[in-house]
Amino acid sequence: MADACNATPASSEPPRLRPDAATSAQYAARARRETSPELALRRELHRRGLRFRVQTRVSGLPRRSVDIAFTRWKVAVMVDGCFWHGCPDHGTRPSRNSDWWEWKLAVNRARDNDTDNRLSSLGWAVVRVWEHEEPAVAAERIEAALSQRGRGVPHGMA
Ligand SMILES: [Zn+2]
Repeated sequence: MADACNATPASSEPPRLRPDAATSAQYAARARRETSPELALRRELHRRGLRFRVQTRVSGLPRRSVDIAFTRWKVAVMVDGCFWHGCPDHGTRPSRNSDWWEWKLAVNRARDNDTDNRLSSLGWAVVRVWEHEEPAVAAERIEAALSQRGRGVPHGMA
């Protein structure tokens, strides 16, 4: 099978106005901030005695990596930024270049769906976490997924 992504929206990228410097800086800062919720979640998982790999490549999933991977139980955790992944609560759309943003966010959503489908067909369970979720709440969901995959209840955690 070719590497073409069938889930990508058929329409091609709409033209957009060049963003002004302030807007560019704003989105760059937003992209950087998206990594800190992932760090908070990783700390919470560590605190619970869980061990995992980060930014892991999965064979059969070209050009993408799993944010937090429990390879033994094949549980993949993806931490999604509210803005870039179109969170229903915080996924605001800029009014400038709105056509382009609609297209961009649709592409991102299609890519997320495609990633989930590929991972499940490879035998992985996928847990998607919004960056706005409390790390403790997200960790509960992840532990539940791990239990379903046969991970025992840990004993003697300090
Ligand atoms: Zn959100």
